[in-house]
Amino acid sequence: MQVKHLKSLINRIDYGNNISNDELTELISLFYDEYSMADLEGSEDLLMLLKSRARAKSKSVWGNRIYQHCMIEISNRCQNDCYYCDIRHGNTEIPRYNLKKSEILETIKPYYKVGIRDFILLSGEKAHKSDEITDIVHYIKSYYPDTTLTLGLGIADKKAYNEWREAGADKYMLREETIDEARYMMLHPAYMKLEKQVDSLYDLRNLGYQVDMRFTLGTPYQSPDSLAEMLCFIKDFGPSSVALSPFVPSPDSEFRHHNECSLTLITAMTSLLRLLMPKLIIPATSTMDAISEQGTIQGILSGANITIHNITPDIYRNYRSDINFGSVNPVDEALILGLDKLGYELFYRHDYDTKRSSCAHAPRI
Ligand code: SF4
Repeated sequence: MQVKHLKSLINRIDYGNNISNDELTELISLFYDEYSMADLEGSEDLLMLLKSRARAKSKSVWGNRIYQHCMIEISNRCQNDCYYCDIRHGNTEIPRYNLKKSEILETIKPYYKVGIRDFILLSGEKAHKSDEITDIVHYIKSYYPDTTLTLGLGIADKKAYNEWREAGADKYMLREETIDEARYMMLHPAYMKLEKQVDSLYDLRNLGYQVDMRFTLGTPYQSPDSLAEMLCFIKDFGPSSVALSPFVPSPDSEFRHHNECSLTLITAMTSLLRLLMPKLIIPATSTMDAISEQGTIQGILSGANITIHNITPDIYRNYRSDINFGSVNPVDEALILGLDKLGYELFYRHDYDTKRSSCAHAPRI
């Protein structure tokens, strides 16, 4: 009976019918932990059904193309102290770095040469001075004007967002863990405010950015109902892209003994997101490779339509704690072959218009 009911919920989302927050919570509860899955005969079949529906939905919008984006962690400094984060200000165990603009340009160069045009610059909050970021954006755009440049530098003031946008930044990615006030307070020191984070999303949109969100799943104090609430928030806000990353406990964080996010939860949530928002850009994040050998492929098989590769220079990647943040090489033969076997093609260029017909793309690798 329960399997039949849950199957009907998947059908309803797939056919674009409304589903209540409670019903979404019911579905997420099944995939939330291994015990719920083990308790219900037929749960594996439901997961397979959910993923195959999401895959079909993704193909109906994006075809068999998987787009390739690259991400550079331009600094591991941050002024904040989020309890789950290995690069929080209070962690004195790691050396800190800021990439210079010439290093960023050099890092981008080989990937630009092979045709990649989407680059994401990430750092903690206020790692660089505001005018340094303006200079970096301007510098990169003057060399590579046809790139899509996404910034993910945490919360800044409107003046800074505006200057970066005018310098040529196209998109801004903000990281969220929850949109529930009580849970937010359990993950952050008191001086950090959820309201400010949410306001920033609207400020960015008003300034003309395409807004991306990045949610971490499986963090402490998360629950099926908070995840359902998160999906509803995403649907209401309508970002251009949403990256779901699995929580991987950092040995340098307060939550080092917490379990990492399961592959089941991250793939089921990716599929639900795809069914709820068919045209959304959904990456299979490189962090998925940290929890599964085939993480990226699993993300694609759950309805993701782009891959994000961390191309931060090795010397700086070693400045983080010992988490494996996933594969580095965007021309990875194994990935290309793996996708090929599954009937997908890897493409390098993508113009972000959500209509398939307007996707610009480089020739297949
Ligand atoms: S999660 Fe972001 S804002 Fe919080 S400490 Fe880490 S880098 Fe800083």
